[in-house]
Amino acid sequence: MTNQETIFSKIIRREIPADIVYEDDLALAFRDVHPQAPIHILVIPKQPITKLADATPEDHALMGHLLLTVKRVAEQAGLSNGYRVVINNGSDGGQTVDHLHLHILGGRHMKWPPG
Ligand code: AMP
Repeated sequence: MTNQETIFSKIIRREIPADIVYEDDLALAFRDVHPQAPIHILVIPKQPITKLADATPEDHALMGHLLLTVKRVAEQAGLSNGYRVVINNGSDGGQTVDHLHLHILGGRHMKWPPG
């Protein structure tokens, strides 16, 4: 399912500024504006999927690409000691922007369980 316009669509189109750290045909990665760790980067598909629960079998390759993009961006950011990957899905998941995004959090030791 595709969605309506979000702030991330505007970042993809360069209509609002963002600290973009990686881009290819399918994905974009940029620094989170309210970082929750020393390094906090968001990886998003350029195709606006609203949330993980709305992904379809047609998105199979894209989903794999997003995870491999996380790996690539984390390496590029120097997170050799590890990092956390988070997808907030829907209201109870704490999702606030209705455009699928993968959080990369690193640069400090992460606690478990998350809040
Ligand atoms: P979530 O709560 O999982 O939906 O995460 C949305 C994330 O987007 C939050 O961590 C926000 O800080 C981040 N965010 C919102 N607007 C922007 C923006 N314009 N540039 C970068 N990050 C943003």
